[in-house]
Amino acid sequence: MENSSENFIIALDGGSGTGKSTTAKLVAKTLGITYLDTGAMYRAVTYVALQKGLKAEEGPAMDELLKDLTLGFDSENHILINGESHEQEIRGMLVSNNVSIYCALPSVRAAMTAQQREIGKKQSCILDGRDIGTVVFPDAKYKFFMVTDVAVRAERRLKELLEKGEKVTYEEVLKNLTERDRLDSSRANAPLKKADDAIEIDTTHISIQQQVQKILDYVGVVA
Ligand code: C5P
Repeated sequence: MENSSENFIIALDGGSGTGKSTTAKLVAKTLGITYLDTGAMYRAVTYVALQKGLKAEEGPAMDELLKDLTLGFDSENHILINGESHEQEIRGMLVSNNVSIYCALPSVRAAMTAQQREIGKKQSCILDGRDIGTVVFPDAKYKFFMVTDVAVRAERRLKELLEKGEKVTYEEVLKNLTERDRLDSSRANAPLKKADDAIEIDTTHISIQQQVQKILDYVGVVA
């Protein structure tokens, strides 16, 4: 690194199931920096809203939910909702099928963006999400945008979910990934979009290790 005493941000954006979180985790470990899974934060809000039976709409109930919600991460990067781990629940299909609707609410985005900036301000960080390089940290030192053929993404995600014991089919996973990308790309507020200055990485035919290496090479070369 050019100046190791200076904090820096790596923004890692892309569609659902492109392998961002696995890659980001490994990059963070190698560089000794913090990993922030911003998708987990939107999943947590969605999970709590569904638990409370709240509709995806603005209003006092959503404001209260956001005010009372404290998010954190444990040492394994599993999200803590008011101090409790709900990793399994936030990764399930119920949350996956609803998160793109709840996360489009301006109040939800404002609250999560503020928390992400607060964390990123204090330390070097790699954040994965949809709007990190465009909205959350438009001045990030490094920006990457991952793309992958949707059939490959569905296969990989299906395998992960089945390993976790979720009862789900290839068709359901494919539909969920496609629908989330459609909603995430078309929302008015902070849509899924490649930043003009982001480097695109196509992960269709490469392994996780190769994805990690591409980012490390780039960070090493430029720094
Ligand atoms: O990254 P992951 O697939 O877990 O994210 C779940 C959902 O959270 C995405 O489909 C998207 O709707 C939302 N999200 C977002 N902005 C981010 C991260 C995630 O809108 N920065």
